[in-house]
This record gives sequence, C-alpha cells and structure tokens, in this order.
Amino acid sequence: MKIGVPKEIFEGEARVAMTPDSAGQLQKLGYDCLIETGAGAAAGFEDAAYEAAGVTVVKTAAALFKDADVIAKVRAPSETEVKRLDSSKTLISMFNPAGNSDLLDLSKAKGANVIAMDMVPRISRAQKMDALSSMANIAGYRAVIEAGNNFGRFFTGQITAAGKVPPAKVLVVGAGVAGLAAIGTATSLGAITYAFDVRPEVAEQVESMGAEFVYLDFKEEQQDGAATGGYASVSSPEFREAQLAKFRELAPEMDIVITTALIPNREAPELWTEDMVGAMKRGSVIVDLAAEKGGNCKQTVADQKIVTENGVTIIGYTDFPSRMAAQASTLYATNIRHMMADLTPEKNGVVNHNMEDDVIRGATVTHQGEITFPPPPPKVK
Ligand code: NAD
Repeated sequence: MKIGVPKEIFEGEARVAMTPDSAGQLQKLGYDCLIETGAGAAAGFEDAAYEAAGVTVVKTAAALFKDADVIAKVRAPSETEVKRLDSSKTLISMFNPAGNSDLLDLSKAKGANVIAMDMVPRISRAQKMDALSSMANIAGYRAVIEAGNNFGRFFTGQITAAGKVPPAKVLVVGAGVAGLAAIGTATSLGAITYAFDVRPEVAEQVESMGAEFVYLDFKEEQQDGAATGGYASVSSPEFREAQLAKFRELAPEMDIVITTALIPNREAPELWTEDMVGAMKRGSVIVDLAAEKGGNCKQTVADQKIVTENGVTIIGYTDFPSRMAAQASTLYATNIRHMMADLTPEKNGVVNHNMEDDVIRGATVTHQGEITFPPPPPKVK
C-alpha cells in the first residue's frame, strides 16, 4: 500500500506529517511513501531529501489523494480533502471530532476510515503515538522562549562587574504536559519558578523539576482530578476564590506568567484577571497557552501579542508547535509512524484496522461507513 502526505493547507501551518527519516521507517513496515511537492519545505525538509529517502514526490494534492491508500496529515482535513477520500482509504490526522461533526458526517458518507491523532487514548501503551502530548511539550518549551524574547531581562540571576541582577520569577499555572515543559525550561534558564495546578498529585512532579508548588490557604482538600481520568474538572466557587486570592498576592512579584489551564471540552477558566495584569510590573510577560479555548487571561487576544497600558506583554499565539516546525514535524511524524506500526503488525505494507485494539479503536472516528466517535472507555490503563 501507499502512504501519502499532502502539503498542509491551514494558513501559516508549517508542520508536515512525514519526514525523510520517518519515511524510512514506514518503508520498513512495507509501505511506499508519497509526498506532495513542497510539503516539508516550511519545516526544513526539501523534496530532494525525501527523494533521497526513497519517497516519490507528487505534483498535486489531488494526485496524491488519488494514489495513496493512507493519507497522513497534521491539521484536521478540509471539506475538499475529505471529499477526496473513499471507502478504500484511511486518513490519519488531528480531527477534533467533538467540534467537527460536519466533517465526521462527510467522512461517513464517503465510507472512509478516519483515525484522529487527537483521540489516541492517554494510556501508557499509547504514549508513543500521543501527538497531543508531543505538541504540548513543544508549546510549553516555546512559551518560555517566546516570553524570554519579549522580556527585557535575564532569567538567571547574575553578579557582574556592572551590577547585581536578580533572577526572574516565573509562575506556571496548570502543570499538565505543557506546564511541566514550561517549568523545565524556565528552571533550566535559571528562573525562580513557581507552579500551581488544581490537581494536587502534580506537586511532586513540579518540585522534582526544581519549581515550587503554590499551595492555597484552602480548608477543604484540593480537588482530586483522579475521578476524571487525570483531567481537571470545574472548581467550586470557594476554591476558585482561594486560587484567585493567591494569584493576586503573587501578581506584583512575577515577571513572567505562563498559563496552560484547560478543562476538557470546555472554555478555559479565567484565572489571571484584569486586576492581576494591572498589578504586574512594567516589562512583565504573560503567555496564555489556553488562548485557543478563550484564554486563562481575559485580555488575551488569540493569535496576537498585545501590550497593556501598564506595559505588560500578553502573548496569545495558538501556533507554538508550528513555530518550531522542524522539531514538531519530527515528533509528530514519529507519532504517525508508531500508529502505522500498530496498524501493520505483519510489517507487510497492508493496513490491519483492528477495532479490537484499544488504541486503534479509541482513535478511530469513522470506520466502514459508520461514525465510531465517541469511543467506549479503554479496557486497559
Ligand atoms: P490539559 O491540557 O487538559 O490541562 C492542563 C493543566 O491545567 C492540567 O494539569 C489541569 O489540571 C490544569 N488546570 C485545569 N484547571 C485549572 C485551574 N483552574 N487552575 C490551575 N490548573 C488548572 O492537561 P494535559 O497536559 O493534557 O494533561 C492532563 C492529564 O493527562 C495529566 O494528568 C497528564 O499526566 C495525563 N496524561 C497522561 C498521558 C498518558 O498516560 N499517556 C499522556 C498525557 C497526559
């Protein structure tokens, strides 16, 4: 069978779902690889590098969709792309099935098999295919780099002949995958880093990375996220008040605030309020990684950088992984390659879409003319 990767059509998207290296691995699974001309260029992978890896460069997306049996993409497909599928084809891509019911219906009507990379169950066995985590890791890292680029001072403290420099203070709100990556990056640059999460079980991870976990003056136990499969749920009003009171106390001291707090299938909670922004020092930076879901800071504008009247920069970019397209493509292509390995247990270049397999079943959103989203809960942890 042939696996083909078209050029991403979402405006500004620089990632690509196959690299010359991953193509080599896919060939070992028995597949012939195709790529649309120029698909990897924005991520630093030229056609010639693919050709050298044995990949056939195809001139148009239409020709690629026609010729390939499996199509791998980064962004959710457009309507035109789905219309190019049929019952003999499998699409593997981010899909956001909960927000894309029209595309689900269309995929069903076309009889195509669709595997959503953003639906890979978050169980240990599937970590190697967990594209949400590999992209969140990049976003957390890049958030700190972007903050540093907009912060006019050092992260690390220094004693120099020209004077003593205090270390920057960084607060990370939400210590999931992106938050932990941000903590690791900020501490490695020498900042004094604090972190908060509603899930108290992450305190140990935060501390092991050299940051200080921010505890609340809250009488009841902090929320236990375990009941919701490791994800946060909505906080009680009392808990939220205690959280905001703590943030108000911290705001004047913090140089950089990175917010990553998300609750599955909801708008992001507003946690960094206008008065907190107003209390921050001139030159401070906020990077709001929740911008795509409405932002943790009300003043965040998605996809923009703004500077408030009191001189605080608020960054709401939603394309951090694409801003590190070479790295993001390498990791994403590896996630795809692992998915293909599970779909090809015989290494014979033929897809075995085994719906008895927890991971494949969990990620499949349409199969043989049926919508198979949402999936049943996985049997194994
Ligand atoms: P996410 O992107 O959904 O949310 C980011 C963080 O924001 C979470 O840690 C969440 O607790 C926190 N948050 C939500 N509301 C908040 C609030 N009001 N204040 C402060 N913080 C708040 O999370 P994620 O990065 O996708 O990770 C979620 C969970 O999934 C974690 O437990 C993670 O360890 C787990 N996970 C497991 C696997 C695996 O086993 N394969 C892979 C990835 C993630």
